[in-house]
Amino acid sequence: MDNYDVAIAGLLHDIGKVLERAGVPVNPGLKGQESLFCKDKGSYYSHQHALYTVQFIEDNLKMVIDEDVINLAAKHHVPDNEFENLIKEADWLSAGMDRREYETGSRKKTNYINERLYSIFESINIGKPYQRQNYHYNLIPLTNSEEIFPTTEEKTDVEESRKEYMNLLNHIEEDIRKEIDQNTLLTPENKERIYNKLYYILEKYTTFIPSSTIHYPDISLFDHLKTTSAIAVCLNEFNNSKKKKKKKFILMEGDISGIQKFIFQVTEGEETKKHVSKILRGRSFYINVLIDFMSKYIVRRLGLTISNILYCGGGKFQLLLPNTDRTISTLEEIKLEIQKYLYKNYKTKLGLVLSYIEIDEKGIMNYSDSIVKLQEENVIDKNRKFIDIINMEKDNFFVKSSRIKNICKYCHENEAKIRTYRNEKMEICDECFTHIQLGEMIVKDRLKYIVYDFDNSIKDADLCVKFGSMGQVCFYRQLKYSNIGFIIENINGTGDFGRLKFVGNTVPVKKGSIASFNEIGPMAEGEDKIGVLKMDIDNLGTIFSSGLGDENKSISRISTLSRMIDIFFCGYINKMCQDLYREYLEEKDSSEADLDNLFYINFSGGDDLAIIGPWDWTIKLAMRIKEKLTRFVCNNPNITVSAGVYFADSKMPIRISLHEGERYLGKAKSRNTKDSICIFEKAFRWNAERNNIEKVMEDGELYANWLKEKKLSRNLAFNIMVASKNIKRKDALNLNLIPIIAYSITRNVADDEVRMEMMNRLITADIRESEIEFIKYPLMIALMKTRKVEEV
Ligand SMILES: [Zn+2]
Repeated sequence: MDNYDVAIAGLLHDIGKVLERAGVPVNPGLKGQESLFCKDKGSYYSHQHALYTVQFIEDNLKMVIDEDVINLAAKHHVPDNEFENLIKEADWLSAGMDRREYETGSRKKTNYINERLYSIFESINIGKPYQRQNYHYNLIPLTNSEEIFPTTEEKTDVEESRKEYMNLLNHIEEDIRKEIDQNTLLTPENKERIYNKLYYILEKYTTFIPSSTIHYPDISLFDHLKTTSAIAVCLNEFNNSKKKKKKKFILMEGDISGIQKFIFQVTEGEETKKHVSKILRGRSFYINVLIDFMSKYIVRRLGLTISNILYCGGGKFQLLLPNTDRTISTLEEIKLEIQKYLYKNYKTKLGLVLSYIEIDEKGIMNYSDSIVKLQEENVIDKNRKFIDIINMEKDNFFVKSSRIKNICKYCHENEAKIRTYRNEKMEICDECFTHIQLGEMIVKDRLKYIVYDFDNSIKDADLCVKFGSMGQVCFYRQLKYSNIGFIIENINGTGDFGRLKFVGNTVPVKKGSIASFNEIGPMAEGEDKIGVLKMDIDNLGTIFSSGLGDENKSISRISTLSRMIDIFFCGYINKMCQDLYREYLEEKDSSEADLDNLFYINFSGGDDLAIIGPWDWTIKLAMRIKEKLTRFVCNNPNITVSAGVYFADSKMPIRISLHEGERYLGKAKSRNTKDSICIFEKAFRWNAERNNIEKVMEDGELYANWLKEKKLSRNLAFNIMVASKNIKRKDALNLNLIPIIAYSITRNVADDEVRMEMMNRLITADIRESEIEFIKYPLMIALMKTRKVEEV
């Protein structure tokens, strides 16, 4: 039994649950074989799904999966040998249960068919009261559309549920027929590819299926299959190792350091300005490609599987590895290899920090606790990082590099060469040229496929990102065959096959090219400014470490949680941008605009994002993300999000604007409530409290209309805004200003309705009721919105 045999068995062990719930009849040839795979309960056999697992493999994968592997997959409730025991152990560990719990309460009932995957977000509690409402997902394939939202609608029709399960099963079988050639020789390379294909087919169709219907069903079947597979492979490697260590597993985190600096350290001169938006997009995506590549490279070098990649996104990855001497020595080799590669190409700008801790079975079951320990280790290692680099610098010390004659204007690092890009000659280094192309091509559906090639054998790709002797990542517009490379990814489902890979890749395009930042500002109403949005989930660390409570922090549950967050920030984000663009056109009453979208996603992944858009629509986008996220997490107040939107002149270097956006986000989070958005240096709650962001925007709209209709003069609006800014002196209100404002309004506003409304809002019997302090914010919005109108 090699690792892939064990891994395949782990990945398929519970697939029978889909057949069982779909109500598929047992094949005649398997009738009477219950005693081999199911648990004998005297009067009946429990765990029928194990028999169905055999049926599934025999029906669909008979030619590529050996008899022993079938037994391995199906005997996890009645194991006969050490390998079968290994799957059983992995199964338990994945579910985070000990034996007793697992074996109770499994008497057959029919309502298990109606059971749905409950939202994991309902289980999160970090201190705010929340009543579970049983939000669940429909039985659908993985998607980045509106269907990702859970519902509370009850499912009672067994036949209907059976049909939905049957539909998913049919899709799984169809994709297997389409993609897995049953007549291939079972070479190690083929096994690897078959495994990877099964992985993504199952990911696509079992993500929204509940794993257990006995316990509270908030773990996705896919996450259970994936983690069982990963644990099983580790146990196999561990059992094969000579020197047995106390703890069987290693939990490793790879962290790319210097990302922000790397992405934004672009010189914005006359000549480069035009391409800055492309290169930033390309660099940000390059980081994605880098960690995707590295995580796969490491598991492959260690003879493990992609299931061992527990998480990959937002500049880091987490791997589950066996604790053997071979793992540790190989890891040290790989670490040096990667660090050397990064150093050679990016000097000290980009670094990889690999940290790991040893964990035992308890560490898998209480996975949240292990993540906390790992993070602590990571902090220590980050500080140690420079020692490695100093060591590498020493090697280079005597090999003095000759001075670069023609330095690249973008990065000021490498030698520039003359290149032709879109019929235009430019001087640029290889790295920056790749980043520009990557940025331009990752847009929308220009590239459909990503292929990971560790043998450097692919020559016909549309674009390649090379990682020296380690391999390359190839991009294709079209792909006819699915049997190339290690694994194929399908970007946002635009391709016909491959692993569904969500990428926040919305950018505004003008004449076929990514618009530059100074083309985005004019899309706003009034003032030509861009909004720089930085946003992320509040208290995410706490949510992962203690949000699920002591009973429920299993590896499969954490895996479900992080994958769900990813679906929202990498996949659904594009939909929100698209929706707002459509609303923009409706508002403009036009079928097209200068740009084909408003928003430039610089990055969106993990739990955070950086997006640039017209200043007014960027606030709307932030509000939309908040609204949708709240629905996605079932209105659970324990999961909130904060944002900073900085309004910038597009002439300002983008890294400075982004830094301000970051600072604003910090201000939003410094409120004790968090759950806020900061604009104009001031943090507002989203919808709680009296003066929230909704009111800022609504009033801003109202005042803008008054300005446009000349019911309110620009002068008066400006004066009230200034008074509003000055009214607070040393923590006390300057009450002398009130009669002056009242006088001004009475004298200068002719429209009765507007005058009354302004007086009511500002001149109140109780000063605490007055909007005098608040009004400057909506007035600033109104003044910005009407700037152009006045000038004409
Ligand atoms: Zn360069």
